[in-house]
Amino acid sequence: MRSLSRSNAHFKKAATKMPLGVSSNFRYWGDDKTIYIDRGKGGRIWDIDDNEYIDYRLAYGPIILGYGDERVDAAAREGMNVGGVFALSTELEYEVATRISKMVPAAELVRFSNSGTEAVMAALRIARAFTGKDGHVVMEGGYHGVFSEVMWYSEVEEWTPGEGSPEVQPYGDGVPAVTKRLFHSVQMNDANALEDLLKAKHKEIGAFLIEPIMGNCCGIRADAQYMKDVREICDRYDVLLIIDEVKTGFRVAKGGVQELYGIKADLCTFAKAIGNGYPLAIVAGREDIMRRIEDGVVHGGTFTAHSVSLAAAAKTLEILDETTALADIEAYGRKLQTGLSGILKRRGIPHSFTGHPALMGLFFSDTPPSNYREWIHSDYAFYDALAPELHELGILIEPDSREPWFLCESHNVECLAETLDKFERAIDITLPKLEQQKSEAVAGGLIHP
Ligand code: PLP
Repeated sequence: MRSLSRSNAHFKKAATKMPLGVSSNFRYWGDDKTIYIDRGKGGRIWDIDDNEYIDYRLAYGPIILGYGDERVDAAAREGMNVGGVFALSTELEYEVATRISKMVPAAELVRFSNSGTEAVMAALRIARAFTGKDGHVVMEGGYHGVFSEVMWYSEVEEWTPGEGSPEVQPYGDGVPAVTKRLFHSVQMNDANALEDLLKAKHKEIGAFLIEPIMGNCCGIRADAQYMKDVREICDRYDVLLIIDEVKTGFRVAKGGVQELYGIKADLCTFAKAIGNGYPLAIVAGREDIMRRIEDGVVHGGTFTAHSVSLAAAAKTLEILDETTALADIEAYGRKLQTGLSGILKRRGIPHSFTGHPALMGLFFSDTPPSNYREWIHSDYAFYDALAPELHELGILIEPDSREPWFLCESHNVECLAETLDKFERAIDITLPKLEQQKSEAVAGGLIHP
């Protein structure tokens, strides 16, 4: 068993100063399971107890090259010499914006923000101003940040298939009920549902917000035909198509998920991988829509286009654009999937992969889900039991199976061999544990054999 004694002691201290002892609710894994990080390098991180992990969470996606990438950090140091923020602009903004437009054709014009939340918030505001319609549609299972208009979700865990639709609930307390009126949701890969909704409500809906590969929902993928239909339906009903590439951008292809599908969004948002961990986000899109900012839409922020983040982004994007980094990550992902699959097949465990090799969902069922409701048909309890065993052995994945595995350029052959070895061991620890729990439950009359 790894020791978490220092993390546990630090948690007690930190919780006296910060709610849950962390700076984001998702970093709290329980009073005795919350870990604090000492450092990261390449594809690995070390906690303050000096436990080493191969990291497949990668900060939920920003780390695309590896922690502490020397090329990017050197550029960031140059960015420090510039001076930070000035409440004025620098020349580098144009350079980075130009690179982004080259890589992502839909990004005709670009504005910088700090976080994915801010970028999506800006995209929705621009869309409301451009269309004159306040409502928006979001995919069931989608996550787009921590601002109220998108903090509603379909509660599929409490839902029984065949009994209507899952209830739409706020992600937490304090989300104003009034924002629910703007929020609509549809299921992935059901173009008729989108068409029906817009037929009925197109006068009040101005935007459809979608991740064609759902970065917060196992990597569930839109079919190519669905994306074509979506593009057409949005045009027909005067609804802007916003593709949220906060997770897929500069990860699944140089031109993001839009390149994979050969589709152009009206507006698109990027964040995580742009700066290999330095905070930068963008809202971008069609020129006539983005020019609405020149005509009454407020966009900005004290820290936007910080010189350190911009310098890091310039270097990260140069590497992603001009080297084989993304192809190498994809190749690692394919090898990883083949290896994991072999281990699972030898034990007769049904499984499939979703998403993209650089952002992959491992799903314990023969076929991957094509929408969020189908996720409940997988053996996610097995995933939930497996994740902590992997943590014990030094492989870090999110404990929730809806969060995909993220890969970076620094994941190398040593990481691959070690991951497969530890994954096999974790499976062989988890299977008998679950069997034992099951027999205890049968013996106690809690479940029928
Ligand atoms: N959009 C998507 C698709 C995301 O995955 C996230 C965060 O995970 C966000 C928006 C919000 O980004 P941030 O956490 O940088 O505010």
